Amino acid sequence: MSPNTPGLHHVTAIAGDPQDNADFYVGTLGLRFVKKTVNHDDTGTYHFYFGDGEGSPGTNITFFPWTDQGREGQFGAGQTQTTAYAIPAESVDYWRDRLESEGIDIEETERFDETVLRFADPDGIGLELVAADAETAATPWEDGPVPTEHQLRGFYNVTLAVDEFGPTETILTDVLGYELEAEADGRRRYRSATGGPGSIVDLVETDAGRGRMGVGTVHHVAFVAESVAEQERWREAYADAGLSPSAVIDRKYFQSIYTREPGGVLFEMATTGPGFTEDEPLDELGERLTLPERLENEREEIEAQLPDFDGPTVDASGE
Ligand code: ZN
Repeated sequence: MSPNTPGLHHVTAIAGDPQDNADFYVGTLGLRFVKKTVNHDDTGTYHFYFGDGEGSPGTNITFFPWTDQGREGQFGAGQTQTTAYAIPAESVDYWRDRLESEGIDIEETERFDETVLRFADPDGIGLELVAADAETAATPWEDGPVPTEHQLRGFYNVTLAVDEFGPTETILTDVLGYELEAEADGRRRYRSATGGPGSIVDLVETDAGRGRMGVGTVHHVAFVAESVAEQERWREAYADAGLSPSAVIDRKYFQSIYTREPGGVLFEMATTGPGFTEDEPLDELGERLTLPERLENEREEIEAQLPDFDGPTVDASGE
């Protein structure tokens, strides 16, 4: 028996310009910039984390900003179509006004009896705000540009695009412990047996062919693993399902394993701890460039080769 995951841990995507990326996620969406580090596997690239007031699992969208030209991705099967955050039901008007005032095109729809605002970030990554008085594990960011009553409340779901439902559905249900909950308009909705915040995954079928990972696409989706000990059980469960999980990798703020599911989406299992206060105090998250210990002796060279970035622009009076 594999363990069950309660739901989403983080989503990691490829951005273009780091300044535009941070200005949008902090200045527009009001997430807190909780960590500025580098891609541990490519130290010339930043790794940004945006989340709630404490960078809680289930709230963090993270980015590798790729500044080289010609590295655009292409949406298709095997990719995340949209990443959705929950907002309070009474905050729809606030968010419609806020996004439109910044010139962002919004598509407003009803899905499973909930209002969904759909739009794209500066690199074309699909985002949604779902009006759902859902349970939340998010901690408000008191100093943010969005009033706390309207702030994003952690992930609602991700929508994954696949060639056909079957192979990915099998992994969701047989390995990860999700259950088919609803189906409408070509969309299948699954919920983790545990329920709670961020516990939904939707699948849609696409005939667009395999996508290509690059700027403007999601790199991987991470689910919560409750503990390091549980990671070995996840590895066995994936292997039993015929997949090839990675070894457990130390990502400093969590321990991770990675698996390419048969529909083409890269799935990570990430532990809830130790978290972002591992190397910075809570009230200083994101203010300095943090590096894993093994890279500290290269700090000067790493800082010198990183692209220009001044920290997120926040207009605190911009309501
Ligand atoms: Zn990750």
